[in-house]
Amino acid sequence: MMVVMTPEATPAQIDAVVERLQAGGVHAKVMPGELTTAIGAIGDPEGVREMGLEGLPGVDRVVPISRPYKLASSELSHHEPTIFDVDGRRVGAPNTFSLIAGPCTVESRDQTLGVARTVAAAGASMLRGGAFKPRTSPFAFQGLGTEGLKILREAREETGLPIVSEMTSADLADSFAESVDVIQVGARNMQNYGLLEVVGKLEKPVLLKRGLSSTLDELLQAADYILKEGNERVMLCERGIRTFDSAMRFTLDLGAVPWLNLHTHLPVIVDPSHASGDRRLVGPLSRAAAAVGADGIIVEVAEDPEVALCDGPQQLYAADFASFAAQVSAHARLAGRKLA
Ligand code: PEP
Ligand code: MN
Repeated sequence: MMVVMTPEATPAQIDAVVERLQAGGVHAKVMPGELTTAIGAIGDPEGVREMGLEGLPGVDRVVPISRPYKLASSELSHHEPTIFDVDGRRVGAPNTFSLIAGPCTVESRDQTLGVARTVAAAGASMLRGGAFKPRTSPFAFQGLGTEGLKILREAREETGLPIVSEMTSADLADSFAESVDVIQVGARNMQNYGLLEVVGKLEKPVLLKRGLSSTLDELLQAADYILKEGNERVMLCERGIRTFDSAMRFTLDLGAVPWLNLHTHLPVIVDPSHASGDRRLVGPLSRAAAAVGADGIIVEVAEDPEVALCDGPQQLYAADFASFAAQVSAHARLAGRKLA
Protein backbone atom coordinates (compact mmCIF):
# COMPACT_ATOMS: atom_id res chain seq x y z
CA MET A 1 0.00 0.00 0.00
CA MET A 2 1.07 3.61 -0.40
CA VAL A 3 0.18 6.46 1.93
CA VAL A 4 0.02 9.73 0.00
CA MET A 5 0.43 12.82 2.18
CA THR A 6 -1.15 16.21 1.42
CA PRO A 7 1.13 18.91 -0.03
CA GLU A 8 0.94 20.73 3.34
CA ALA A 9 1.92 17.72 5.49
CA THR A 10 4.64 18.55 8.02
CA PRO A 11 7.72 16.40 8.76
CA ALA A 12 6.21 15.57 12.17
CA GLN A 13 3.03 14.30 10.50
CA ILE A 14 5.11 12.15 8.14
CA ASP A 15 7.07 10.74 11.11
CA ALA A 16 3.80 9.94 12.89
CA VAL A 17 2.62 7.83 9.93
CA VAL A 18 5.97 6.03 9.77
CA GLU A 19 5.80 5.29 13.51
CA ARG A 20 2.25 3.96 13.25
CA LEU A 21 3.28 1.65 10.38
CA GLN A 22 6.40 0.39 12.11
CA ALA A 23 4.53 -0.24 15.35
CA GLY A 24 2.23 -2.50 13.30
CA GLY A 25 5.22 -4.43 11.92
CA VAL A 26 4.96 -2.82 8.47
CA HIS A 27 8.08 -1.72 6.55
CA ALA A 28 7.82 2.02 5.79
CA LYS A 29 9.70 3.81 3.04
CA VAL A 30 9.44 7.59 2.75
CA MET A 31 9.59 8.88 -0.82
CA PRO A 32 9.62 12.68 -0.96
CA GLY A 33 8.24 13.99 -4.27
CA GLU A 34 8.19 17.44 -5.78
CA LEU A 35 4.70 18.25 -4.48
CA THR A 36 3.79 15.52 -2.05
CA THR A 37 5.48 12.83 -0.02
CA ALA A 38 4.40 9.23 -0.39
CA ILE A 39 5.13 6.52 2.16
CA GLY A 40 5.42 2.98 0.90
CA ALA A 41 3.80 0.60 3.42
CA ILE A 42 5.12 -2.84 2.62
CA GLY A 43 3.27 -5.56 4.48
CA ASP A 44 -0.10 -7.24 4.60
CA PRO A 45 -2.41 -4.81 2.71
CA GLU A 46 -5.44 -5.76 4.87
CA GLY A 47 -3.47 -4.95 8.01
CA VAL A 48 -2.44 -1.57 6.59
CA ARG A 49 -6.03 -0.80 5.61
CA GLU A 50 -7.17 -1.51 9.18
CA MET A 51 -4.69 0.92 10.74
CA GLY A 52 -6.99 3.87 10.05
CA LEU A 53 -4.17 5.92 8.55
CA GLU A 54 -6.61 8.07 6.60
CA GLY A 55 -7.66 9.66 9.87
CA LEU A 56 -4.14 10.89 10.72
CA PRO A 57 -3.32 14.57 10.18
CA GLY A 58 -1.53 15.26 6.88
CA VAL A 59 -2.71 12.05 5.18
CA ASP A 60 -4.48 12.53 1.84
CA ARG A 61 -5.21 8.91 0.84
CA VAL A 62 -4.10 5.31 1.14
CA VAL A 63 -3.84 3.48 -2.19
CA PRO A 64 -2.71 0.01 -3.19
CA ILE A 65 0.62 -0.49 -5.02
CA SER A 66 -0.70 -2.56 -7.86
CA ARG A 67 2.53 -4.34 -8.91
CA PRO A 68 3.95 -7.52 -7.37
CA TYR A 69 7.23 -5.68 -6.80
CA LYS A 70 6.85 -2.86 -4.30
CA LEU A 71 10.04 -1.03 -3.37
CA ALA A 72 11.53 -1.39 -6.85
CA SER A 73 8.39 -0.03 -8.52
CA SER A 74 8.44 3.37 -10.18
CA GLU A 75 4.96 3.88 -8.66
CA LEU A 76 6.70 4.29 -5.32
CA SER A 77 9.28 6.81 -6.52
CA HIS A 78 6.84 9.08 -8.38
CA HIS A 79 8.76 7.94 -11.50
CA GLU A 80 11.93 9.69 -10.27
CA PRO A 81 15.08 7.66 -11.07
CA THR A 82 17.37 6.39 -8.34
CA ILE A 83 20.76 8.07 -8.77
CA PHE A 84 23.84 7.33 -6.66
CA ASP A 85 27.60 7.60 -6.67
CA VAL A 86 30.14 4.80 -6.76
CA ASP A 87 33.31 6.45 -5.54
CA GLY A 88 32.47 9.67 -7.39
CA ARG A 89 31.04 8.02 -10.53
CA ARG A 90 27.38 8.84 -11.06
CA VAL A 91 25.09 5.88 -11.74
CA GLY A 92 21.49 6.16 -12.91
CA ALA A 93 21.43 9.84 -13.88
CA PRO A 94 19.72 10.43 -17.23
CA ASN A 95 22.85 12.15 -18.57
CA THR A 96 25.53 9.64 -17.52
CA PHE A 97 26.62 6.28 -18.91
CA SER A 98 28.63 3.74 -16.89
CA LEU A 99 31.27 1.74 -18.74
CA ILE A 100 32.21 -1.18 -16.51
CA ALA A 101 35.00 -3.30 -18.01
CA GLY A 102 37.63 -5.83 -17.04
CA PRO A 103 38.55 -9.47 -17.21
CA CYS A 104 35.97 -12.19 -16.70
CA THR A 105 38.14 -13.66 -13.99
CA VAL A 106 41.14 -12.50 -11.98
CA GLU A 107 43.75 -15.05 -13.04
CA SER A 108 46.95 -13.34 -11.97
CA ARG A 109 48.30 -10.01 -10.77
CA ASP A 110 49.90 -9.16 -14.13
CA GLN A 111 46.84 -10.12 -16.19
CA THR A 112 44.47 -8.08 -14.00
CA LEU A 113 46.68 -5.00 -13.65
CA GLY A 114 47.37 -5.03 -17.40
CA VAL A 115 43.66 -4.99 -18.31
CA ALA A 116 42.91 -2.49 -15.53
CA ARG A 117 45.43 -0.01 -16.95
CA THR A 118 44.00 -0.40 -20.47
CA VAL A 119 40.37 0.15 -19.48
CA ALA A 120 41.24 3.04 -17.14
CA ALA A 121 43.18 4.81 -19.91
CA ALA A 122 40.19 4.42 -22.27
CA GLY A 123 37.81 6.11 -19.80
CA ALA A 124 36.09 3.15 -18.10
CA SER A 125 33.99 4.04 -15.07
CA MET A 126 34.67 0.87 -13.05
CA LEU A 127 36.74 -2.31 -13.19
CA ARG A 128 35.05 -5.72 -13.15
CA GLY A 129 36.74 -9.01 -12.32
CA GLY A 130 35.58 -12.28 -10.75
CA ALA A 131 37.52 -13.70 -7.81
CA PHE A 132 34.88 -16.28 -6.79
CA LYS A 133 33.43 -17.80 -9.96
CA PRO A 134 30.08 -19.61 -10.09
CA ARG A 135 31.10 -22.26 -12.66
CA THR A 136 28.63 -24.71 -14.18
CA SER A 137 31.05 -27.57 -13.52
CA PRO A 138 32.66 -28.03 -10.10
CA PHE A 139 35.80 -29.19 -11.95
CA ALA A 140 36.24 -25.89 -13.82
CA PHE A 141 38.53 -23.12 -12.47
CA GLN A 142 36.72 -21.60 -9.51
CA GLY A 143 38.70 -18.34 -9.27
CA LEU A 144 41.56 -17.23 -7.04
CA GLY A 145 39.21 -16.40 -4.16
CA THR A 146 40.58 -14.11 -1.47
CA GLU A 147 43.87 -13.76 -3.34
CA GLY A 148 41.83 -12.44 -6.31
CA LEU A 149 40.20 -9.79 -4.11
CA LYS A 150 43.66 -8.68 -3.01
CA ILE A 151 44.74 -8.25 -6.64
CA LEU A 152 41.57 -6.25 -7.37
CA ARG A 153 42.35 -3.94 -4.43
CA GLU A 154 45.80 -3.38 -5.87
CA ALA A 155 44.28 -2.58 -9.28
CA ARG A 156 41.98 -0.03 -7.64
CA GLU A 157 44.91 1.55 -5.84
CA GLU A 158 46.88 1.89 -9.03
CA THR A 159 44.12 3.01 -11.43
CA GLY A 160 41.63 4.67 -9.08
CA LEU A 161 38.82 2.61 -10.63
CA PRO A 162 36.12 1.28 -8.28
CA ILE A 163 35.92 -2.52 -8.24
CA VAL A 164 32.89 -4.68 -9.16
CA SER A 165 33.12 -8.34 -8.17
CA GLU A 166 30.69 -11.19 -7.63
CA MET A 167 29.89 -12.41 -4.11
CA THR A 168 28.80 -16.03 -4.38
CA SER A 169 28.02 -16.77 -0.76
CA ALA A 170 26.80 -15.01 2.37
CA ASP A 171 29.90 -16.26 4.24
CA LEU A 172 32.00 -13.87 2.16
CA ALA A 173 30.14 -10.74 3.31
CA ASP A 174 32.92 -9.38 5.54
CA SER A 175 35.71 -9.73 3.03
CA PHE A 176 33.59 -8.26 0.23
CA ALA A 177 32.50 -5.33 2.41
CA GLU A 178 36.18 -4.64 2.98
CA SER A 179 37.46 -5.20 -0.57
CA VAL A 180 35.02 -4.21 -3.29
CA ASP A 181 33.06 -1.08 -4.23
CA VAL A 182 30.12 -2.81 -5.93
CA ILE A 183 28.89 -6.26 -4.98
CA GLN A 184 27.72 -8.28 -7.95
CA VAL A 185 24.99 -10.86 -7.48
CA GLY A 186 25.32 -13.25 -10.41
CA ALA A 187 22.53 -14.57 -12.61
CA ARG A 188 22.69 -17.96 -10.90
CA ASN A 189 22.08 -16.33 -7.53
CA MET A 190 19.30 -13.91 -8.42
CA GLN A 191 16.86 -16.08 -6.50
CA ASN A 192 19.19 -16.87 -3.60
CA TYR A 193 17.01 -14.85 -1.25
CA GLY A 194 19.18 -15.34 1.83
CA LEU A 195 22.17 -13.96 -0.09
CA LEU A 196 20.09 -10.99 -1.31
CA GLU A 197 19.13 -10.13 2.28
CA VAL A 198 22.77 -10.28 3.38
CA VAL A 199 23.78 -8.03 0.49
CA GLY A 200 20.93 -5.69 1.46
CA LYS A 201 22.49 -5.24 4.89
CA LEU A 202 25.95 -4.31 3.56
CA GLU A 203 26.49 -0.64 2.88
CA LYS A 204 27.71 -1.19 -0.68
CA PRO A 205 26.13 -0.60 -4.08
CA VAL A 206 24.88 -3.80 -5.71
CA LEU A 207 24.80 -5.02 -9.32
CA LEU A 208 21.94 -7.54 -9.48
CA LYS A 209 21.99 -9.72 -12.58
CA ARG A 210 18.81 -11.14 -14.11
CA GLY A 211 18.51 -14.92 -13.70
CA LEU A 212 19.03 -17.05 -16.81
CA SER A 213 15.33 -17.87 -16.97
CA SER A 214 13.81 -15.15 -14.82
CA THR A 215 11.00 -12.82 -15.81
CA LEU A 216 11.36 -9.09 -15.29
CA ASP A 217 8.73 -9.25 -12.54
CA GLU A 218 10.90 -11.82 -10.76
CA LEU A 219 13.99 -9.63 -11.21
CA LEU A 220 12.24 -6.68 -9.58
CA GLN A 221 10.93 -8.83 -6.72
CA ALA A 222 14.51 -10.04 -6.18
CA ALA A 223 15.58 -6.37 -6.02
CA ASP A 224 12.89 -5.85 -3.34
CA TYR A 225 14.77 -8.35 -1.11
CA ILE A 226 17.81 -6.04 -1.17
CA LEU A 227 15.86 -2.79 -0.96
CA LYS A 228 13.80 -3.92 2.03
CA GLU A 229 17.00 -4.26 4.08
CA GLY A 230 17.63 -0.54 3.57
CA ASN A 231 20.18 -0.76 0.75
CA GLU A 232 18.87 1.51 -1.97
CA ARG A 233 21.92 1.51 -4.23
CA VAL A 234 20.89 -1.28 -6.58
CA MET A 235 21.62 -1.50 -10.32
CA LEU A 236 19.83 -4.13 -12.38
CA CYS A 237 21.66 -6.02 -15.12
CA GLU A 238 20.15 -7.56 -18.25
CA ARG A 239 22.63 -10.28 -19.24
CA GLY A 240 20.63 -12.40 -21.66
CA ILE A 241 18.07 -15.13 -21.04
CA ARG A 242 17.43 -18.68 -22.22
CA THR A 243 15.12 -18.90 -25.22
CA PHE A 244 14.49 -21.51 -27.93
CA ASP A 245 17.38 -20.04 -29.94
CA SER A 246 20.81 -21.51 -29.38
CA ALA A 247 22.72 -19.49 -32.01
CA MET A 248 24.11 -17.24 -29.29
CA ARG A 249 25.03 -18.11 -25.72
CA PHE A 250 21.86 -16.40 -24.44
CA THR A 251 19.31 -14.04 -25.99
CA LEU A 252 19.90 -10.41 -25.05
CA ASP A 253 16.51 -8.98 -24.13
CA LEU A 254 16.96 -5.38 -25.25
CA GLY A 255 13.26 -4.67 -24.75
CA ALA A 256 13.89 -5.25 -21.05
CA VAL A 257 15.73 -1.92 -20.90
CA PRO A 258 12.90 0.46 -21.87
CA TRP A 259 10.42 -1.79 -20.00
CA LEU A 260 12.48 -1.54 -16.82
CA ASN A 261 12.86 2.21 -17.34
CA LEU A 262 9.06 2.43 -17.29
CA HIS A 263 8.43 0.12 -14.35
CA THR A 264 11.30 0.71 -11.95
CA HIS A 265 13.33 3.65 -10.66
CA LEU A 266 16.53 1.56 -10.50
CA PRO A 267 19.40 2.00 -13.00
CA VAL A 268 19.72 -0.62 -15.76
CA ILE A 269 23.06 -1.98 -16.99
CA VAL A 270 23.44 -4.31 -20.01
CA ASP A 271 25.97 -7.17 -20.23
CA PRO A 272 26.45 -7.96 -23.93
CA SER A 273 29.46 -10.23 -23.23
CA HIS A 274 27.63 -12.98 -21.34
CA ALA A 275 24.48 -12.47 -23.43
CA SER A 276 26.15 -13.14 -26.78
CA GLY A 277 29.17 -15.23 -25.81
CA ASP A 278 30.91 -13.76 -28.88
CA ARG A 279 33.22 -10.71 -28.84
CA ARG A 280 32.21 -9.82 -32.43
CA LEU A 281 28.68 -9.06 -31.20
CA VAL A 282 29.68 -7.05 -28.14
CA GLY A 283 30.25 -3.77 -30.06
CA PRO A 284 26.87 -3.68 -31.86
CA LEU A 285 24.96 -4.84 -28.77
CA SER A 286 26.70 -2.25 -26.58
CA ARG A 287 25.75 0.51 -28.98
CA ALA A 288 22.19 -0.83 -29.07
CA ALA A 289 22.10 -0.80 -25.26
CA ALA A 290 22.98 2.89 -25.28
CA ALA A 291 20.30 3.54 -27.92
CA VAL A 292 17.49 1.85 -25.93
CA GLY A 293 18.25 3.85 -22.80
CA ALA A 294 20.59 1.72 -20.69
CA ASP A 295 22.43 3.48 -17.86
CA GLY A 296 25.59 1.61 -18.78
CA ILE A 297 27.19 -1.63 -19.88
CA ILE A 298 29.47 -4.22 -18.30
CA VAL A 299 31.90 -5.93 -20.70
CA GLU A 300 34.72 -8.44 -20.47
CA VAL A 301 38.22 -7.61 -21.73
CA ALA A 302 41.42 -9.66 -21.89
CA GLU A 303 44.90 -9.07 -23.25
CA ASP A 304 45.06 -12.63 -24.49
CA PRO A 305 41.55 -14.13 -24.43
CA GLU A 306 42.72 -17.27 -26.27
CA VAL A 307 44.37 -18.45 -23.07
CA ALA A 308 41.74 -17.13 -20.63
CA LEU A 309 40.59 -19.73 -18.09
CA CYS A 310 36.96 -18.62 -18.44
CA ASP A 311 34.79 -17.02 -21.17
CA GLY A 312 37.63 -16.43 -23.67
CA PRO A 313 35.49 -16.15 -26.85
CA GLN A 314 33.40 -13.29 -25.50
CA GLN A 315 36.20 -11.14 -24.08
CA LEU A 316 37.17 -8.08 -26.13
CA TYR A 317 40.83 -7.79 -27.05
CA ALA A 318 42.45 -5.22 -24.77
CA ALA A 319 44.17 -3.78 -27.84
CA ASP A 320 40.74 -2.94 -29.33
CA PHE A 321 39.25 -1.52 -26.15
CA ALA A 322 40.03 2.18 -26.69
CA SER A 323 38.28 2.25 -30.07
CA PHE A 324 35.38 0.18 -28.64
CA ALA A 325 35.01 2.69 -25.79
CA ALA A 326 35.10 5.66 -28.18
CA GLN A 327 32.31 4.15 -30.30
CA VAL A 328 30.13 3.33 -27.32
CA SER A 329 30.68 6.76 -25.87
CA ALA A 330 29.65 8.38 -29.21
CA HIS A 331 26.40 6.36 -29.15
CA ALA A 332 25.80 7.23 -25.51
CA ARG A 333 26.23 10.91 -26.45
CA LEU A 334 23.49 10.53 -29.07
CA ALA A 335 21.25 9.37 -26.24
CA GLY A 336 22.20 12.48 -24.23
CA ARG A 337 24.67 10.71 -21.93
CA LYS A 338 28.36 10.94 -21.31
CA LEU A 339 30.76 8.47 -19.69
CA ALA A 340 30.60 8.68 -15.91
C1 PEP B 1 30.03 -12.64 -14.54
O1 PEP B 1 29.67 -11.48 -14.77
O2 PEP B 1 31.20 -12.91 -14.28
C2 PEP B 1 29.05 -13.74 -14.60
C3 PEP B 1 29.34 -14.94 -14.15
O3 PEP B 1 27.89 -13.38 -15.17
P1 PEP B 1 26.42 -14.05 -15.04
O4 PEP B 1 26.14 -14.18 -13.58
O5 PEP B 1 25.57 -13.06 -15.74
O6 PEP B 1 26.50 -15.36 -15.76
MN1 MN C 1 32.50 -14.22 -17.62
